[in-house]
Amino acid sequence: MVRYVYAFTEGGRDMAGLLGGKGANLAEMTRLGLPVPPGFTVTTEACRSFLTTGSEPAGLAREISDRLTLLEQVAGRRLGQPDDPLLLSVRSGARFSMPGMMETILDVGLNEDSVLGLAKSSGNERFAWDSYRRLVQMFGSTVMGVDSALFESTMARLKQARGAVDDLGLDAADLAGLVEAYKELIHRETGESFPQSPAEQLQRAVLAVFRSWNVERARVYRRREHIPDGLGTAVNVQTMVFGNLGPTATSRGGGSGVAFTRDPATGRSGLYGDYLPNAQGEDVVAGIRNTVPLDELGRLDPDAFTRLRGHMATLEAHYRDLCDIEFTIERGTLWMLQTRVGKRTAEAAFTIAAELADEGLITSDEGLARVGGDELARLMFPRFDTSAVGEALAHGIPASPGAAVGAAVFDSAEAVRRAGAGERVVLVREETTPDDLPGMVAAQAVLTGRGGKTSHAAVVARGMGKVCVCGAEEIAVDPRGRRFAVGDTVVEEGTVISVDGSEGTVYWGAAPLIDSTVMRYFETGERPAGLVDAVARAMGHADGVRRLGVRANADTPEDAARARRFGAEGIGLCRTEHMFLGDRRQLVEAMILARTDTEREGALGALLPLQRQDFAGILEAMDGLPVTVRLLDPPLHEFLPDRTELAVRIAAAEAHGNPPSTHDAELLEAVNRMHEENPMLGLRGVRLGLVVPGLVAMQVRAIAEAVVERKRAGGDPRAEIMVPLIDTAEELRLVREEVEQVLAAVSKESGVPVTCPVGTMIELPRAALTAGRIAEEAQFFSFGTNDLTQTTWGFSRDDVEAAFFSAYLDKGIFKVSPFETIDRDGVGRLVEIAVAEGRAARPGLKIGVCGEHGGDPESVPFFHAAGLDYVSCSPFRVPVARLEAGRAAL
Ligand code: PEP
Ligand code: MG
Repeated sequence: MVRYVYAFTEGGRDMAGLLGGKGANLAEMTRLGLPVPPGFTVTTEACRSFLTTGSEPAGLAREISDRLTLLEQVAGRRLGQPDDPLLLSVRSGARFSMPGMMETILDVGLNEDSVLGLAKSSGNERFAWDSYRRLVQMFGSTVMGVDSALFESTMARLKQARGAVDDLGLDAADLAGLVEAYKELIHRETGESFPQSPAEQLQRAVLAVFRSWNVERARVYRRREHIPDGLGTAVNVQTMVFGNLGPTATSRGGGSGVAFTRDPATGRSGLYGDYLPNAQGEDVVAGIRNTVPLDELGRLDPDAFTRLRGHMATLEAHYRDLCDIEFTIERGTLWMLQTRVGKRTAEAAFTIAAELADEGLITSDEGLARVGGDELARLMFPRFDTSAVGEALAHGIPASPGAAVGAAVFDSAEAVRRAGAGERVVLVREETTPDDLPGMVAAQAVLTGRGGKTSHAAVVARGMGKVCVCGAEEIAVDPRGRRFAVGDTVVEEGTVISVDGSEGTVYWGAAPLIDSTVMRYFETGERPAGLVDAVARAMGHADGVRRLGVRANADTPEDAARARRFGAEGIGLCRTEHMFLGDRRQLVEAMILARTDTEREGALGALLPLQRQDFAGILEAMDGLPVTVRLLDPPLHEFLPDRTELAVRIAAAEAHGNPPSTHDAELLEAVNRMHEENPMLGLRGVRLGLVVPGLVAMQVRAIAEAVVERKRAGGDPRAEIMVPLIDTAEELRLVREEVEQVLAAVSKESGVPVTCPVGTMIELPRAALTAGRIAEEAQFFSFGTNDLTQTTWGFSRDDVEAAFFSAYLDKGIFKVSPFETIDRDGVGRLVEIAVAEGRAARPGLKIGVCGEHGGDPESVPFFHAAGLDYVSCSPFRVPVARLEAGRAAL
């Protein structure tokens, strides 16, 4: 029979799939002998069954009630027992952390009788009523579906009537009155009474947490984080402990906190966290009041602090990683409520990996596995030039690093609206809640007036790699008036501000940016201690273990030189069409408009020295390394003026009584002649070379002469010639013959032998499927996964992203655009077939990829596994690809 409930004493960290991350780690802490309030976990399997069938899985109620009986026996009191009630928390906990996205219900077991018992047993009447009102509020909104704003406004009215600034200004009688008001509210809204039976409360709370897997914000979060929708959440039912019985270090007091074994923003070692005296865990994260730094606990309650440090050392040594924990101190007793391997910024990820390796806690391989290409890419972003920004407008807590500039907006919807229209925005809130998630996704940065480094805003922003400054107490946020004020300075909605999440500062206007130190390291090799050194070490290890080569896509000597500094081992794609633009357009036009062979030869002859010069520069920058030059690919009319513009120009001239110039008339005739409805599927790539006489010869001659020039200058040029967009081996054979003739001719004329491997792009399904035959003609392959994705899916690469991709992403048809991350099942399958058949026909065939996917952190492991020799990507992505290639080889 399926089992749906596990006690904390039965699970362990390797059971996260079944028990969720939180449940598995609670079990692990229990096994380690740490003080965890007893409890049990209802499995994700129960949740999946409930969500699929719509009804509670058979046997679940029984299992929960049996497990509860055992819990009651250990506790020596019953759930909701009138004189001394056992109370429970009911929390979500999925396989992957989804902070604040799903529901939690606390204080389950309180009712009209047990609230009095709790008042007596705790000796604190106010506390008992406060706990009860929390339960009624959470249960009312989460389980019974009453709008949470109605509870908040009821509370706000009461506070106003009492002149209370916060909830501490309400006494026991006020809170008892509030419970009544809440209960009436629930009855009015639902026609049902708040249930008094503790067992019913528990059962309904568990199901409500299951249901919360599918609330809108949880879905949005999953989509963003690429968490599968089908996993479901586990539910953790745990004995309540109370940090809000009174001030810390009084005999009945306590508090709650969140702590990290290392700084999650910078990675520096040392305990780090926030503590809130006389509060429940939820209050810390919600930023209800401002927290104090964790060190303060050492002063307030040295005993508890020492124990906490001991437990955290145990956890870090056990998990061999940064751990974050939540804890509560109840009447001087420390309880561990949660732990997990903590989320961290990109900077912290590299720093921690290097330090843990230094401390001997992990190997260099493990260190490399813990950093990723996306994180590296984030570190290559610029920061503000603080010497040029002037005085800061406000200061807060540096919660998530980086620099961002945008217009201030004051609610999530406005952030989404403006970002959708292409504007960069900064979301400014007093504090954020999970409902602000869409706005946070849309914004460049998040700024809050309240809350510490572990507030919702901070945790979520860090997870997204989004700039965040929180707890900027000097700012007074006025969401209704759509502005915030710092003293007399008022910042209205739409005003541009700059947010520095590394320093915790906010500036008026758009602050100037400077390059990152990590970028400088790649540019110059400058390697200061700390972050840059940690990055350099990860790169060194990745280079040592990787099997994939990394080349760059570069079309100019400058890009080639930069790519080389970034560690590129050659050029995998030099797109020659870029050499046909700018001032050379006229020459290209002349070639296209040529009426006779002589005219065409003249135009091609004029292009030749220019192309030769380009190639010589690139070959020099990449001396000694392979440079794959691709023959011209796009349709020729891309080099002519736009048809409509030209027609309008001619019509306007005629309207003024001027006949069009002969040149314009000829151009229009050529544009019309060459117009294609689907140019991407038309006269481009190898087809162009086969129908425009002299085009291939001119390009090959330019390459060959550049090789001669470099050799004469004492260089080591290694050009490779690549033919784009072939469908059949026959196309390649014809072009290759022409290439070889030209190479032979240049060798003869110059007396310098020129040989270049001739290979092809595999970027059409037919080419992939006939790769064996093509390999007989090709000395190398390079997958053009942009076109291969376009033609395999039948998606126009120029149109679809704007047309319908967001709908497809929303519907979950794919989790990420196939133009961004390789579609392993379809396009990837073609790649695998082509690799296998290509190498079967020509053993040792060199194979690379030069589509955008070559620099995508998610795709590089696929290319490694598919047995490619190298990936090629834009120069800035080269370090990312090196790192990911190393990780793939672990
Ligand atoms: C490709 O199609 O993947 C490719 C690299 O060529 P282009 O993007 O120039 O079409
Ligand atoms: Mg292509």
